[in-house]
Amino acid sequence: MGERFNLTGLSSVALHAADKQFGESSHLPPIYATSTFTFDNAEQGMRRFAGQEDGYIYTRWGNPTFTVAEETIAALEAFNIKDANGKPLQLKAFLHASGQAAMTTMFFANLSAGDTVLSHFSLYGGTHELLHKVLGQSGINTVIADLRDLNIVEDTIQKNPTIKLVHIETPANPTIQCVDIAAVSKIAKQHGLIVTVDNTFATPYLQQPFLYDVDFVFHSTTKFLNGHGTAIGGVLLGKDLDLMNGKVYKWYKLLGGNSNAFDAFLLIMGMKTLEVRMDRHCSNAVAVADYLINNQAIAKVNYTGLANHPDHATALKQMKHPGAMMSFELKGGLEAGKRFIDRLQMCVRAVSLGTVDTLISHPASMSHFGVAREQRLEYGITDGLIRMSVGMENIADILADLEQALH
Ligand SMILES: *Cc1c(COP(=O)(O)O)cnc(C)c1O
Repeated sequence: MGERFNLTGLSSVALHAADKQFGESSHLPPIYATSTFTFDNAEQGMRRFAGQEDGYIYTRWGNPTFTVAEETIAALEAFNIKDANGKPLQLKAFLHASGQAAMTTMFFANLSAGDTVLSHFSLYGGTHELLHKVLGQSGINTVIADLRDLNIVEDTIQKNPTIKLVHIETPANPTIQCVDIAAVSKIAKQHGLIVTVDNTFATPYLQQPFLYDVDFVFHSTTKFLNGHGTAIGGVLLGKDLDLMNGKVYKWYKLLGGNSNAFDAFLLIMGMKTLEVRMDRHCSNAVAVADYLINNQAIAKVNYTGLANHPDHATALKQMKHPGAMMSFELKGGLEAGKRFIDRLQMCVRAVSLGTVDTLISHPASMSHFGVAREQRLEYGITDGLIRMSVGMENIADILADLEQALH
């Protein structure tokens, strides 16, 4: 493509940032269902392996359908951000088979035995286990602290000289706690640490961590980026292009966590509507939160859009809107939680989040069933806590379903 005027809106970027000419004048990116790519002759094969000629070699190393998805996400995360030289920020992205695979590449490319990761206590379960079990077995330690308290962040870093990386997930699962990315990143950078951010709940529509000097951003694309619940996927983005094209690419190729062309295609289709979907998800979520806080059966609503949420100010500071994720506590505890879930007629009983339809889960009996009750309560996951990913249905029907299930 030749030079084009600067796209000024997020939907235009989602739709056109990765425009290319495909074979047979195909409008949409073909699903390149191929494991390998051909060489015209031995000389060309050599040039491609030597990196002297652009071109695909083997799908574990990259695939043209992945490239469209990767360039789109990179453009969304870098949207309107300038680098240190005042130029548009350039990012490199690698598309993975899952969020967990992207995180594995991210951690192993940056850490080795003896290093420590500092993270917050409200974390996605898979991240918590990956850090403690898989990285733990490789001699990489994890320290969990309340990253919302900046004195604790500073203290913990000073007391643990082996801390090399600070991992921030915000908003976090399922209490919707928020960590101040700018403030934590600033402290981490004063100590020369690597900063990584899980931006899954927010998406680049609501929050752009690269504004705050972080090194890597990671997404489970399974959620809002795909948006339709059609595929598991993950992406790792970085701004140090030499590092991304060097060691991170090497680790990506060797760990073998690559995506596949069909899932990449589904993700590309989903991302086209990110902005309009998020607008609807967000406005519905505000209406749901308003309904819940006024309901007699509800003891507490965790939504960062509400002034009484402890992280309301942090959310306002770094997010365009409080988003579409919330949780709430039923007065009747575990039994009331189960009864409520069972009575739903339209909202879907399922874990995961960020799909076009509303998903409701009960952490105590589902995602956190295996966590000891005391530990669960310490994390704020009470017996009656319900997690809700507010969908795009017409708001009157979402409220009607909640109303009939609560009474
Ligand atoms: C789902 C999720 C992950 C893991 O991603 P998968 O695609 O399921 O491997 C990581 N972090 C957060 C915040 C998630 O919601």
